[in-house]
Amino acid sequence: MIFRATVLTLYPEMFPGPLGASLAGKALAAGIWSLEAVDIRAHATGRHRNVDDTPAGGGPGMVMRPDVLAAAIDAAAPAGDGRPRLLMSPRGAPLTQRRVRALAQGPGAVIVCGRFEGIDERVIEARGLEEVSIGDYVLSGGEPAAIVVLDAVVRLLPKVMGEASSGEDESFEKGLLEHPHYTRPRLFEGREIPPVLLSGDHAAIARWRQAEALRLTADRRPDLVTASHARPGRER
Ligand code: SAH
Repeated sequence: MIFRATVLTLYPEMFPGPLGASLAGKALAAGIWSLEAVDIRAHATGRHRNVDDTPAGGGPGMVMRPDVLAAAIDAAAPAGDGRPRLLMSPRGAPLTQRRVRALAQGPGAVIVCGRFEGIDERVIEARGLEEVSIGDYVLSGGEPAAIVVLDAVVRLLPKVMGEASSGEDESFEKGLLEHPHYTRPRLFEGREIPPVLLSGDHAAIARWRQAEALRLTADRRPDLVTASHARPGRER
């Protein structure tokens, strides 16, 4: 069973985009996951095939119509489809590595990309869309956000990353930011690799990495340190 992604968008030409290159692109070509970009406009009816209209109550911009979007969702993911339905939205729950991992363990995702001022509230309710945000800033459309979500998910799918373990040690997986990395050359512009990393003492290296991860997290993301210390071993 492969991970099936369906993206509903007014700009299907934006896909696979960056997801067609590198790790995600190779996995796509290898059939580890599939990606279907559905053109919402293909589900518009009427003479003008309008996908948007002016906001009820007035104000600037346009709002995506609920009927057109519902038709697109129903065609792409009929009742019983079973995949989570996400709506990319700056008001959504902030995306976390925990949510990404849960998505990667599931059958796939149906991802709705908004445009304009956003989408009619009633289709969010009627189709049970889960609003997900990629951060506290406003994009012009949900497509880059959908690409972010899928990139984060696809790298966790079995056989996508070279080394099976390489996903486990990273930023957020243990509730901390990751320790710094070094490689050759040993001396770069007068800066040495920390000697402990060249010592061959694996226990000392592990201690150093843990201490560095704590130091960096305390410095940059004190909110994460508090959380992981309050609940030892708990994943975020
Ligand atoms: N008027 C809205 C912003 C609309 S931006 C507001 O103030 O909340 C247009 C579309 O871009 C949204 O419908 C959403 O799909 C997408 N988008 C914008 N910022 C986003 C973010 N931080 N995370 C996820 N999607 C975002």
